[in-house]
Order: sequence, then structure tokens, then C-alpha cells
Amino acid sequence: MSNIVTPAVGRGVEPFSITISHVEEDGAAHAVLVFLEQECNLVGWIVQEVLALLPNREIWRLTLTGDVAATVNEIQGRSMASAYTTDRGTGHVGGVTLPRADGTFDIVIGIEHLVNPIGDSLEFARLADNAIATGRHLGRHEAGHVLLSLRGESAENYRDLPSLDPIAAGLAPAVAAFMEDFRIERHVREHAPPVFSHLDGLQGSLEHLSSELMAAKASWSSNFEEAIDRSDKVIGDFVRVISYLSAELGLDIDGQPVVPNTAPLHWDRYLGNEWLEWSAAFHRLRPVDEVMALNELSEVLGELCELVVDWAAEIGYARGHAEDGREYAYWTEDKY
Ligand SMILES: [Zn+2]
Repeated sequence: MSNIVTPAVGRGVEPFSITISHVEEDGAAHAVLVFLEQECNLVGWIVQEVLALLPNREIWRLTLTGDVAATVNEIQGRSMASAYTTDRGTGHVGGVTLPRADGTFDIVIGIEHLVNPIGDSLEFARLADNAIATGRHLGRHEAGHVLLSLRGESAENYRDLPSLDPIAAGLAPAVAAFMEDFRIERHVREHAPPVFSHLDGLQGSLEHLSSELMAAKASWSSNFEEAIDRSDKVIGDFVRVISYLSAELGLDIDGQPVVPNTAPLHWDRYLGNEWLEWSAAFHRLRPVDEVMALNELSEVLGELCELVVDWAAEIGYARGHAEDGREYAYWTEDKY
């Protein structure tokens, strides 16, 4: 673990200390970090984005890490049994924000996309630009989570919805987290746009959805529980993709959800019919820098949870309760 003290960008800003962890000092990643810091003011840019939403620097600390999961486990003192992992099925978690008992927050940012910038350009300056853009994006994104927490608008403040059907209510914690990311992305895309495009990754996400449902269909009679877990997971992961994609595509000048210009393979099968409904439901949420009341948030949450259940049934995975109260799951299509 080492510390970087950096002059933050902008006049009148005090030097700022951050922690670097899980980066070997004689490794290539460290060399790239040092270059980005010395030549491009990497940390200054990240800090500036965090400060834009969180001007009180007493309440947050910043760590850049080569291993997000290990750093989270160290900060939280987790055991192996409850260890945090960064596997979210599609894509990789670039950062995480940890609230502490004393009311402060640890903002942890992975260096993976800083030292291996997205893009196939061989031009060094372009790669460095991408690294800085990614750092700025991740910094402001994580600051958004802190801001919501400070205002009491985090997922845990409104995710208990007793009036919902139990299947839909079971989705609430995950969907509330996606809502939080949507609100943040709506804001961050305007101020520190990401290099990564969820539209570019959509084809892969759709293929993953299709193959996981196909595998569940093929195995449910021999291992019902596993087939359910597998299907629930891929549905959840895909709703996360929908949330980010809604923020990325946004609304047109008439306030209507934008549809991709060229639809990828499987689009019509899995998303085409309900895209407008999905995106419109997410767009009832305001960006992270605008306050929302908890009853507004739980209304959108309820709507989205019901939409997940309806959409899953529409694409061939029906979940519900039988009359005797038992849960059921049906894979209603022959092929996915
Ligand atoms: Zn997030």
C-alpha cells in the first residue's frame, strides 16, 4: 500500500492524499499509473469529479486498487465466507462505495480500465485520454452513490414493498440498486461521459441471456433449483444492462425513449416489444443531482419489479405462485 499526494486540478484546491493498494511497485501497472499521474494528472481529474458532487472532503476517502474485491474485504474486514466478489455476470465492476459506521465513505476504484484503457487504438495519447475519461467517469459515478446515501435516497431506504406480489418483491433489492445506477449514469453521462458503450456490448449480453435460458431449459427436469438460480441470475444481470442502456440511449427531443439505430441479433426476440416501456419506466427517475421523494422512488421500483416479471414471462420464463402458495417456474419456449 502506498500513498500519492497530488495537487488537485483547479485553483485554490489543497493537495489531496489517496491510497493505492494491490499494485506491485515494480510491476507494469504501477509504471502506467505513475505515467498517468505525472503526465496526465490522473488523480487530480478523479478527485475533481468526486468534489463536484461531494465538496466536503472530510467525509470521503479515495483508494485506487489493483484488486477491488481484496480491498473491499480489507476495508470491511470480511471473512472468506462472506467475501465480496466483483463478478456481475456481464461487465466488470469498476468501483464500489463503502459507507462506514462513522458516517464517512470509502470510494474504491479499480485500476483495470485505467492501466488497460478501453479501445483498440495504437495511439498512445488516445489510450491515455481514454484512461483519464474512465477515471473521471468512475470517480463521479461512485460520488453519486455517496450523494444518494447522504440524502437518504439509497436503495435500502425504499426497497421494502409489502403491497407487491412476493415474486416481484423478491426482485426489489436488485432492481433498486439498478435504479440507483440509472440515476447516477443519467447525470454522469453529461459531465464525465464513459468510454465504454453498453450498446456495443448489447449483442454479447443478448447472446448470454439466450444461452443461459437455453441451458436452464435443457436441465430443469434434472436439477430444478439450479435451473431457477441460473435463470433468475441472467434475468437480473440483463435488467442491469437495460438500466445502463436506457441511460446511454436516453430520450429524443420529444421525450420518447431512443431505440438503437441498428438492432443487434436477438433484439426483436428479447427487447424490441418492451423497450419503450422499459426505458420510459427508468426515465421516471431523475438524475442523481435532483432530489426524489421516497414514495416516488418506491412507485417506480414497484412498476419496474412488475415489469421484470411480465417481461420474463413474455420471453419464456414464467415465475409465480400456484394456488397452494408454492413457487413455480416454467420455461415456456422450445428454444431461446
Ligand atoms: Zn454504481
